Amino acid sequence: MASRTKVKTLTIDGKRVGARGDATILEVAREHDVYIPTLCFLEGLRPNGGCRMCIVEIEGSNKLQPSCVTQVYEGMEVHTDSERIQNYRKKILQLIFSERNHVCSVCVSNGNCELQDTAQKLGMDHVEYPYLYPHMEVDATHDRFAVDHNRCIMCTRCVRVCEGVEGAYTWDIANRGINAKVITDLNQDWGDSETCTSCGKCVQVCPTGALFEKGKAVAEMKKTRQFLPYLSVMREEEE
Ligand code: SF4
Ligand code: SF4
Repeated sequence: MASRTKVKTLTIDGKRVGARGDATILEVAREHDVYIPTLCFLEGLRPNGGCRMCIVEIEGSNKLQPSCVTQVYEGMEVHTDSERIQNYRKKILQLIFSERNHVCSVCVSNGNCELQDTAQKLGMDHVEYPYLYPHMEVDATHDRFAVDHNRCIMCTRCVRVCEGVEGAYTWDIANRGINAKVITDLNQDWGDSETCTSCGKCVQVCPTGALFEKGKAVAEMKKTRQFLPYLSVMREEEE
């Protein structure tokens, strides 16, 4: 335990900082107000490093590393905002925008969307890849919620909150590549799910308009996630 928590010293963008031995680069960066964009990461959920938005450069390594799942070590030198990283982040965003239909003007989350916010923040002003737009369905069979697979960026936040926080294990991922999609139970309609408790946590953590509440206007679609940091603090205190 002592070695796990021993303080490490590292530099982030040239600034010397101290960190818990088991901290990730993203945690340390946030503690020191260094902005690293994220999409699949959400405080309180198990990180999975899937979206690659939070990549950083580490001196001595050619590979860019996802900061949400990379632990700090003594003497580490991290760069979070080089030209190379900025270019890669924009390319990753463009690939997300080109894969499914993210036409904001006809989305329920327009103005309350982390994908939209991130594109604006990173200055993504065009998409250089061909749009794929596979035909994806909308499942509106649940009484209160709906899922539009066309807006899904496969961040798996819904999967992780449903299994790790609600304990219902309703969501999962089916298929691969362009055909990958989130499914409920054994790929049946959400409204027929026997495991879903209708808690709405998956809707609240979804960064886009893929999961939404029925009967709400676009301006009311703001998501609330305060329950997550609270639960993670409770978990840490129990450990
Ligand atoms: S509403 Fe709750 S139980 Fe149902 S799928 Fe979403 S997180 Fe899981
Ligand atoms: S439905 Fe939303 S939370 Fe779930 S994987 Fe898609 S974008 Fe992420």
